[in-house]
Amino acid sequence: MMEKTGAGRRAEIAGAGIGGLTTAAALAQRGWSVTVHERAPTLRTFGAGIYIWSNGLRVLQAIGAYGQATVGAHVGPQFHTRDHNNTTMEEIPINGIGDARLITILRETLINSLVDTCRRSGVEILTNSEAVGATAEGELVLADGSRRKADLVVGADGINSRVRDSLDLMMYRKHLGYGAIRMLIARDDGDVPVEDRERYIEYFTGSRRILYTPASATDLYVALCCAADDAAALKVPADRALWTQSFPHLANLVTRFGDAGRWDAFEVVKLKRWSAGRVAILGDAAHAMPPYLGQGGGCALMNGLGLAAAVDGTTEVTEALAAWEARERPMTEHTQDTAERLGDMNLWPDDIRSQVLKITGKSREIGMERMKTARHAPTATDALA
Ligand SMILES: Cc1cc2nc3c(=O)[nH]c(=O)nc-3n(C[C@H](O)[C@H](O)[C@H](O)COP(=O)(O)OP(=O)(O)OC[C@H]3O[C@@H](n4cnc5c(N)ncnc54)[C@H](O)[C@@H]3O)c2cc1C
Repeated sequence: MMEKTGAGRRAEIAGAGIGGLTTAAALAQRGWSVTVHERAPTLRTFGAGIYIWSNGLRVLQAIGAYGQATVGAHVGPQFHTRDHNNTTMEEIPINGIGDARLITILRETLINSLVDTCRRSGVEILTNSEAVGATAEGELVLADGSRRKADLVVGADGINSRVRDSLDLMMYRKHLGYGAIRMLIARDDGDVPVEDRERYIEYFTGSRRILYTPASATDLYVALCCAADDAAALKVPADRALWTQSFPHLANLVTRFGDAGRWDAFEVVKLKRWSAGRVAILGDAAHAMPPYLGQGGGCALMNGLGLAAAVDGTTEVTEALAAWEARERPMTEHTQDTAERLGDMNLWPDDIRSQVLKITGKSREIGMERMKTARHAPTATDALA
C-alpha cells in the first residue's frame, strides 16, 4: 500500500490521453485530489492499435492498470523490416528470454484501462471541459472563463497544447514531411504467409510503408505511411489500387482496407523547459516524436509516473518540477532523436536502404541504442520484478 503523502494537495490536469490519465492515477494514488479536464464530449479514442514496450508495461504495472490493459493483447515473436522484394532486411527478436517485451493492443483498451484506474483511485474526470491556458502561479484557465487553483497544474493536452502555448514554452515544432493513415480491420489468414501471421512487419517500397500489426486475436492494426506531399497515398479512404501497385505481395490485405482511417503527420516538439512555476507539460505537448520506435505513448507513461514521484512528499513544487525534467528529459530526448533518425530511412532509395539495414541489423551496438528506451526501468518502477 502506497503512503498517501499528497493528502490535502490538489492537481488540475488538462487532457485525458495517455499522459494526463497516467499522471492523474499516479498522483491520486499518492493522496492528491485530482481533476482531469477533457475537451472532447466522451473519453473514447479512435480505432487503431498501439505498441507498448517493456518500459511502458512497467508503468502500467506500477499504477495498477496492467491487468486490464493487456487483456486480449497480442504478443508477437519478432519485429521484421522487409524491403520492396519482401526480403527481410532486419529482424528484432522480442518477448523471448533476455529480449525486450513488446505487446500490441487496441488504443481503446489502453485508454479504458487508464480511465478505470483513475476512477478506482478517486480521480474526477470532466468531459466537455476545455483548457485554454494556465498561469505559473498554479491556475488552470478553462474555456468557460473559470479558473481552477491548484498546487500543481499539468498540460497533457496533446501536440496543439494550449496550456504549453499560454506559457511560451515552445523551443521548436518540426514537421518531418511524413505521416500515416491508421486503421483497424479484421484479421484474415490469407493476408500473409502462415509463418508471418503473428509477427510485426513493416514493409517498405520507395517512400511508402505498410505496418502490419496483429493487435488482438481478431483485430489487425494497419498503418500506411507516406510523404506528406504524396497526395494520392494519404487520401482516406485509402486508395486500394495505388497501395496494391506499391505492395503487390500484400494484395489480399490491401483489398480488405475499409473506408475508415485517420491521417496524422509526424512531428517533433521540443520545449525550452518542461515547466513554468507550478505548471508541468508532458506527453506530446512537451515531447512529440515520430512513431518509428513506438515510444511516444511510452514516454508519456514514463513521464507521467515520474512526475507524480517527483512531487511526492515535497511542498516545493517548482523545484520538484525542475528535478523531474533533469531526470526524465535525457531519456526522452534520446528516444525522440533516435526515432527521428530512423525516419530518415524513408528518403533513401530501396537498394541503399536494403544494404544499410542488412548491415546495421547485425550490429549489437546499434541494436542496443534502439532498444535503450524499451530496456529502461522508469522512475518509480524499481520495486517491480
Ligand atoms: C501514426 C502514429 C503511431 C503511433 N504509434 C505509437 C505506438 O505504437 N506506441 C507508442 O507508445 N506511441 C505511439 N504513437 C505516439 C502516441 O500516440 C502519443 O505519443 C500519445 O498518444 C501521446 O499521449 P498524450 O496524452 O500526450 O496526448 P494525446 O493522446 O493527444 O491526448 C491529449 C488529450 O487531450 C485532449 N485535449 C486536447 N486539447 C485539450 C484542451 N485544450 N483542453 C482539454 N483537453 C484537451 C485531447 O482530446 C486528448 O484526449 C503514435 C503516434 C502516431 C502519430
